Amino acid sequence: MTTVDLEFDQLNSTVDALRRSISNRLMYGVGKDAVTARPQDWLHAAALAVRDRLVARWMKTTRLQYEQDVKRVYYLSMEFLIGRTFTNALLALGIYDQVKEALHDLGVDMEMLTDLEPDAALGNGGLGRLAACFLDSMATLGIPGFGYGIRYEYGMFRQQIVDGEQVETPDYWLRAGNPWEFPRPEVQYLVHFGGRTVERNGHIEWIETEHVNAMAYDTVIPGYATSATNTLRLWSARATEELDLSAFNRGDYRRAVEAKETSENVSRLLYPDDSTPAGRELRLRQEYFFVSATMQDLIRRYQRTHSTFGRFAEKVAVHLNDTHPVLAIPELMRLLVDVHHVPWDKAWKHIEQMFSYTNHTLMPEALETWDVEMLARLLPRHLEIIFEINAEFLKHVSEKSGHDAEMIRRISLVDEYGQRRVRMAHLAIVASQKVNGVSKLHSQLMTRHIFADFAHMFPERFTNVTNGITPRRWLAQASPSMSSLIDQQIGTHWRRDLFELAKLRDLRNDDAFVAAFHEAKRQNKRRLAHRLSQATGVSFDPEALFDLQVKRIHEYKRQLLNVLHVIVRYNQIRAHPERDWVPRVVMFAGKSASAYRMAKTIIKLINDVGAKVNSDPVIGDRLKVVFVPNYGVSVAELIIPAADLSEQISMAGTEASGTGNMKLALNGALTIGTMDGANIEICDAVGRENIFIFGHTADEVDDLRAKGYRPRQLYEENPELHTALDQIRTGFFSPEDPLRFSDIFHTLVDWGDHYMVLADFVAFAEAQKAVDERFRDARAWTESAIENVAGMGQFSSDRTIGEYAQGIWHVKPLDLG
Ligand SMILES: *Cc1c(COP(=O)(O)O)cnc(C)c1O
Repeated sequence: MTTVDLEFDQLNSTVDALRRSISNRLMYGVGKDAVTARPQDWLHAAALAVRDRLVARWMKTTRLQYEQDVKRVYYLSMEFLIGRTFTNALLALGIYDQVKEALHDLGVDMEMLTDLEPDAALGNGGLGRLAACFLDSMATLGIPGFGYGIRYEYGMFRQQIVDGEQVETPDYWLRAGNPWEFPRPEVQYLVHFGGRTVERNGHIEWIETEHVNAMAYDTVIPGYATSATNTLRLWSARATEELDLSAFNRGDYRRAVEAKETSENVSRLLYPDDSTPAGRELRLRQEYFFVSATMQDLIRRYQRTHSTFGRFAEKVAVHLNDTHPVLAIPELMRLLVDVHHVPWDKAWKHIEQMFSYTNHTLMPEALETWDVEMLARLLPRHLEIIFEINAEFLKHVSEKSGHDAEMIRRISLVDEYGQRRVRMAHLAIVASQKVNGVSKLHSQLMTRHIFADFAHMFPERFTNVTNGITPRRWLAQASPSMSSLIDQQIGTHWRRDLFELAKLRDLRNDDAFVAAFHEAKRQNKRRLAHRLSQATGVSFDPEALFDLQVKRIHEYKRQLLNVLHVIVRYNQIRAHPERDWVPRVVMFAGKSASAYRMAKTIIKLINDVGAKVNSDPVIGDRLKVVFVPNYGVSVAELIIPAADLSEQISMAGTEASGTGNMKLALNGALTIGTMDGANIEICDAVGRENIFIFGHTADEVDDLRAKGYRPRQLYEENPELHTALDQIRTGFFSPEDPLRFSDIFHTLVDWGDHYMVLADFVAFAEAQKAVDERFRDARAWTESAIENVAGMGQFSSDRTIGEYAQGIWHVKPLDLG
C-alpha cells in the first residue's frame, strides 16, 4: 500500500469557519440552499459540519492504536441507549457557543434544531444506557475500546398514553437519515445458520447453511476534552443475494423479494422486552448474528498486525454486557479451531484470558437459557462446542473436588431438568477470567445465591464494579443552569474528574451559593413545568416538591408502593384540606414491556389516579399526579434536573444497581430509597442525614419470607392502607370499569405480594413524612441537595471504566503524544 499525503482543509472552529462549514455542508452535503432548507436540513448540515471536526481525531486515534499495537477492548452489548448526539458532540469538542452563534448568524435557532434530532434508542433501559455511558468514558479516558452491537432499524417503541393506557408505535429513527454514521459496505462478514457438520481432513466443517451478510456502520464516539475518540460499530443485515434469482427467473417475483426481506429481518428490531420468550428464535438469531460478525472482525483486525495467534490474549479483551453476547465464546472457538486450525486446548487458553462478563440481574426468570433443540437446528456446530466445553469443565470439577452428582447437575452448562436448555450465564462464567456484579450488594448476593457454586470453585474470578454515569451528559448537558453555577464556584474540571464536586460541600454554609443553587433548581423546574403544561394542559406550581419515579415499569421497582402512598395522601388531604400540606407533584415516567400485563395495568392505575386527583377541586395545588409519556434519554435529560425527590424504592435485593438513582442525586435530588443496589453506596457517599432510607433490607426480606409473609394481615390492620386498597379493588378510580384493578388488589393482598409492597408501606409513609418536614425548611433541603451533588464523585462512569480497565481488562490508555 502506498500512502500519499492528503491535502485537506484543517477545520478550525471559529464562528466564521463554522458558519462557512455549515453553509458548505448544507449546499454540498444535503443539497439545499437557504431558501429551500427545512429545519431538518439545517440540523443535518450542522451535524455534518460538527462530525467533520471529529474525523481528524478519529483517524489519528486509529493510527496511534495500530502504531502502539495497543490492547483493545471489545465491549459487546445487544443494547446501546445513546439518545441524541448533536449537543454531546458540541460539548465534547468545546464548540457549543460557537456553533450556536454561527447558526444564529444563519438565522437558525439552535435549540429548535436540537429538539428535532431523534433519539438513538437502541436499548430498553438501564443496561443499554450503561453501555452508552461506558462508551463516553472509554473515549474520555483514552481507553482503546470498541462498542459492538446491532443497528436496529426500529429501536425502542414510542410510548403514547391514550385514555391512560400505553400505546406503542414503532420508532423508525433512521427516517431522516443518520448524519453520525459511516456505512462501511466494504466491511461485511457472512453469518451462517442451520446446516450440519462434517469432518474432513481432521477438521470440522459446517456445511449446507443459509447465510446473511453483516455490514458495518461506524459511529465516532468523541472523548470529552481530549483528542481521543472511539468507534461504535453496529451491524446491519444484508441479504447475500440481492434477490433469489431462481425464484425470480421462475417468474415468482414476490417470493424472490420476500426471501431477501426475511433474511434481513435479523437486524430489524430491538426486542422491547428483556424477560419474555416472545420471538425467541429471531432473538437467538440476532444474538448470534452480532457476535459472529464481531468475532470475525476482531480476528481480522488482530491479524492485520500479527502473523500468529501467539499474542492474541495479550492484545484483545472481550467484555460481555450480560449474557446476550455469550455465543461469542463458542463462535470464537469455532473460528479459531475450525477455520484457523488452532488446536482446541490452545484456543481455549486464549479465550479464558480474554473474556469477562457482567451480570445484571439475580432474577431467575431473567437468566437466559436456550433450548438445546433450537440450538441444534440453528447452530449445530456451536452446540457441539458447548457440549465439549461442558464435558471438559465437568471432568475438571470432578477431578478436583470429587464426584458430587447434585453439584454437577447444578453447575452444568446444560440444564437437564425437563426440556434440556443451555445456561448462558454458566457458559459465561466458565469462559471468563472475571465476572462482576454492578454494586456491592449485588455482587455479594450473586456469589451467595445464584452463582454460589461457581464462587466457591473460582473465588478469584468474582468481583464488583459498581456502575456509574457520565457527568458530561447527565449534568453538563442536561442542566446548563446547574453546571454553570458549579463552574463559577470550582471551575470546569469536574467534567473530567467528578471527585472535584466534593469542593461544593464547604459551600453549603455560603448563603449566596445556597440561594443560587436553589435558583438553578427552580429554573429547571420551571423549564419542565412549562414543557409539561404545553404537552398535557395540566399546570404545575414550580414551588411544589417535584417527586420523580422514572424508570421501566416493573413490579420489582414498586411503582405500586408509590401509587398507594399517593392514594393515602389524597384521602388525607380530602379529610383535612385545612392542614398545612407541602404541595407535591408526583411524576411517573417509564415504559412497560409490551407483553407485560401487570405493568400496563399499573400505568393505567397511575393515570386513573392522576385524573381523579388532578381534577378534584378540594385538592388544588396540594397534590398533582403526572405520567410523563415516552420516557427515554431525551425525556430523562429534561425531567431529571427538575427533581427534588428521587424515588428508588425497589424491594431490597432486586435492583442490581440502578443508575437513575445516580443521575438524580447528581442533579441535586434527595433520594427516598430502600437499602438496595447502589442506593446503599449513595447513602454512604452523601451521609445518612441527606437521604431517606426505609424498609426491609435484603436480609430482612429473606427472613420475612422464611417466617411466612402475610400481606392480608397488613391490609386488615392498617385502616389507611385498607381504604386505599379497597378503592383500587372497587373502582373508585375507574367507576366506568369497577373491576379494572382488581388483579392489583389480589396480587398485593391475596396472591402473596411477591415484592412486599405492603410490608414496606408503613415505613415508606413515615419516610415521606420526613421528606415533607425537610422540604418545609428550604434552606435545610438545599443544603442536603448540595451534599448529594458533592458526594457523587465516585458515581462517574470514568471511575467505573477505570476499574474495568485496571482490574478486568488490563488495558492502558492510548499515548496521544
Ligand atoms: C438511566 C436510565 C434508565 C435506568 O434507570 P433506573 O432507575 O436505574 O432503572 C432507564 N432508562 C433511561 C432512558 C435512562 O436514562
